[in-house]
Amino acid sequence: MLKDNAYGHGLLQMAKLAHEAGVRHAVVRRLAEAGAIEHLFETILVLSDTPNESPAPNIRVAVNQILDIEKLPAGAAVELKVDTGMHRNGIEPERFAEAVEKVASRGLKLVGVMTHYRSADEMGSDFFWQKKRFDRIREEALRLGIDGVRWHSCNSAALFRTGSFDEDIARVGIAAYGCLRMPPSFEVPEFRPVASLWADRIATRELEAGERVGYGGEGSFGYKTVVSSYDIGYGDGWPRSPYTLPCGKRIVGRVSMDSISVEGDDESICIFDDAAVAAKQLGTISYEVTTRLSPYIERVVV
Ligand SMILES: *Cc1c(COP(=O)(O)O)cnc(C)c1O
Repeated sequence: MLKDNAYGHGLLQMAKLAHEAGVRHAVVRRLAEAGAIEHLFETILVLSDTPNESPAPNIRVAVNQILDIEKLPAGAAVELKVDTGMHRNGIEPERFAEAVEKVASRGLKLVGVMTHYRSADEMGSDFFWQKKRFDRIREEALRLGIDGVRWHSCNSAALFRTGSFDEDIARVGIAAYGCLRMPPSFEVPEFRPVASLWADRIATRELEAGERVGYGGEGSFGYKTVVSSYDIGYGDGWPRSPYTLPCGKRIVGRVSMDSISVEGDDESICIFDDAAVAAKQLGTISYEVTTRLSPYIERVVV
């Protein structure tokens, strides 16, 4: 899964690493993303975009509702997304045969059938009844004589819940970035986060006790100290919230558009080395922390 700038990690860098690691199939959100990495993968699935003309042969688009079939250019390769219970995107299971028929009559090529689980990362039966519905679609496809299309349903959490994986691809996102966190009872392996975020020092100054830092003068110390500004702010997609860095220091005062202030004069500081830990502190999920990071932030593969 390389959608949304590879979960904020950098589309080209991650696509290249995935390719080098032997990954042959990619999934993105937009056609523009698919175009940028077209040369690296055997297939690229576009989750949510509509081409004006038939895309390159290795690019296929997901059909999120039956109406979309009318909008696709003849010759395009499509994968039908089936709504097995998440009720977000996808074709109603009862209309699967109708969708297949429409795809054929519009001159489109059916190359895949997929679904998505709403709570594979939580204990409960949802995962299993969605899986069952998807199995039924597979049986119906057999009856309809559909052959040679690929089948896939698993995101990271679902893949690690599946004892005997028998689908054609798995759509692994957050686990590949090392941030999959599941309840301990699932006994998934421990993942190491791929990304850490660092900021460089812009300027340093000495402050007298009680002098106040930043917009609104919200940050201050009861003693004489040294404070530096660092080159990350909400303009880079870092949230404008109170935050304690992994080293234990707090951001002093408010986050600015392009900078934060931190006590000391280190040349660079680590903002996070585990997006899941940062997310917990910020009241969100690791997906949001990394995905929001501006594409202008330099990505360095270490
Ligand atoms: C984002 C996404 C995934 C990947 O989910 P992870 O939890 O990151 O593994 C898989 N399938 C679809 C349809 C998605 O939108």
